Amino acid sequence: MPRILAGKPIIDALKEDGLKRVAALKDRGIDPVLAIVRIGARPDDLSYERTAIKRAEALGIGVRLFQLYEDAGQDALMKAIGEINADQGIHGCLMFRPLPAGYDEEAACEALDPRKDVDGIGRAALARVFTGRGEGFAPCTAAACLEMLDGYGIAIEGKHVVVVGRSLVIGRPVAMMLLERNATVTVCHSRTENLPAVVKAADIVVLATGRARAYDKTYFSPGQIVLDVGINMDEDGDLCGDADFDSAEGVLGDEGAITPVPRGIGGVTTSVLMKHVIEAAQRCEC
Ligand code: NDP
Repeated sequence: MPRILAGKPIIDALKEDGLKRVAALKDRGIDPVLAIVRIGARPDDLSYERTAIKRAEALGIGVRLFQLYEDAGQDALMKAIGEINADQGIHGCLMFRPLPAGYDEEAACEALDPRKDVDGIGRAALARVFTGRGEGFAPCTAAACLEMLDGYGIAIEGKHVVVVGRSLVIGRPVAMMLLERNATVTVCHSRTENLPAVVKAADIVVLATGRARAYDKTYFSPGQIVLDVGINMDEDGDLCGDADFDSAEGVLGDEGAITPVPRGIGGVTTSVLMKHVIEAAQRCEC
């Protein structure tokens, strides 16, 4: 049976480190604060918000909620972002996306001060990920994949990683971050031909497509490490990943490993968000 790469040990380690760093910041008179911008009340956003607030409280990070009605409009959103940028007491900002129809998401992402862009939504952050230079923060989920590999002591250098999905939130940034760590990276998408054979050839697989249980044993081979980033609802309303876990588990073998959904990468993402807020506070001159 493959090793199950649970998020908990990684979350615990990040918490331990975070507590020390927050204590050091407080000694300097700095109270790290995360702003959360939420438009409307989508259940997914509310659920992530609750987790983020709980995680922040456990670390002594303050949270400021900027909650807008769904029909608040672009001007109200830009005003909120302007307030966040101007407030020296706010170090990082999480803005739930996608924004509701009618909002200019790109303008909102670009308006956020790159120093406070702790979820890597602006061009400056992506430039950092793509060039390997600069100070921006990587998108948290992409960074969580690397935390997972590093936390479990899984070597990246020289390995062939197949990333399935090419979004700017996960697929592309995680591919670039793995390349930066000297992996050989193949990025797949909806037009990739012979996907099962391509995925089978990998040492490490990152699944980030949002297709519930779509990847079964025909995609995997013994000894592979599978990071399942997908968070999907199956037809029974249960949370599941992109991998068909039971089917995949059967082929990966004792040398293989797989992240579960839930209790895999999802929770690590929130911990990475907190890590970025702490780093943003450490960098600030206030
Ligand atoms: P997007 O919808 O933006 O991107 C999906 C990607 O999957 C696209 O690149 C698409 O290809 C590719 N894809 C779709 N169908 C196929 C297919 N049949 N074969 C191969 N590739 C395919 O999704 P996101 O990147 O935003 O999210 C992906 C998943 O990650 C979702 O389940 C989401 O819920 C989850 N997620 C998890 C987070 C976490 O913290 N763990 C955080 C954020 C998201 P193409 O470009 O050709 O259309």
